[in-house]
Amino acid sequence: MNLYPILTGNLKLDGGAMFGVVPKVIWNKLYPADENNLCNWSMRCLLIVDGERKILIDSGVGDKQDEKFFGHYFLNGDDTLENSLSELGYSPDDITDHILTHLHFDHVGGSVRKNQDGEYEPTFRNATHWISKAQWEWATKPNRREKASFLTENIIPIMEKGKLKLIEKEGEILPNVFAKIYNGHTDGQIVPHINFKGKTVCFMGDLLPSTAHIPMPYVMSYDTRPLLTLEDKKSFFADAIKHDYILFFEHDLYHECCNLQETPKGIREKDTFTLAEYFA
Ligand SMILES: [Zn+2]
Repeated sequence: MNLYPILTGNLKLDGGAMFGVVPKVIWNKLYPADENNLCNWSMRCLLIVDGERKILIDSGVGDKQDEKFFGHYFLNGDDTLENSLSELGYSPDDITDHILTHLHFDHVGGSVRKNQDGEYEPTFRNATHWISKAQWEWATKPNRREKASFLTENIIPIMEKGKLKLIEKEGEILPNVFAKIYNGHTDGQIVPHINFKGKTVCFMGDLLPSTAHIPMPYVMSYDTRPLLTLEDKKSFFADAIKHDYILFFEHDLYHECCNLQETPKGIREKDTFTLAEYFA
């Protein structure tokens, strides 16, 4: 088995919204904002190659929305989903399994594309799409607060034309890939845990967007249940310390991975590194 980060470009989001109740004078030292108070976030997906199996986790924002929509997010960076796959010698048709942590547009946008006739279709037409049942029900009947993040064009084509597998409970969904489910950010967010070379690599998604979100009060304003996020973090950290997990960040522009340590101030990152560096 091998793991490859798949870079799909960056987006900018308001730093205040990303750090919740933490004041800017504090978070700005950890994750700097530009003159418009925007911070730059990667959309780093993960490809697991295990023999014939090619498992892609999340897909970035994609390219099918209009300029007005993308104008709110200041997309930047040269990487695209297709280019990052093709640099490794793969095309979207090679993906056999596609795990979606959740269905917010910056995680699932690349999973649906427009074809030559202008119709929406699943990008990974041979793939089984793995989504939690709770998230599927949550996203297909969205609440008013999250509605703007669940775009129907990212969801309906998967329902109508994709192979869909809804995960009802935590456990091993594919060989050496385990789904853990957290509910603070959105209902039924999957945090995939991958057994790799004797270690566990966790794809953090929006449970912990970046290393700057490790201290307890750093919870995004986007989270639907911030008190539950605190519980999610506490239980994840307990497991992560116990088993020395490797945290793989989707949104941290500056750090691909870290591990954790206990300090007098609480849980903090120990070392930051890339997968390639760690497993060299
Ligand atoms: Zn999200």
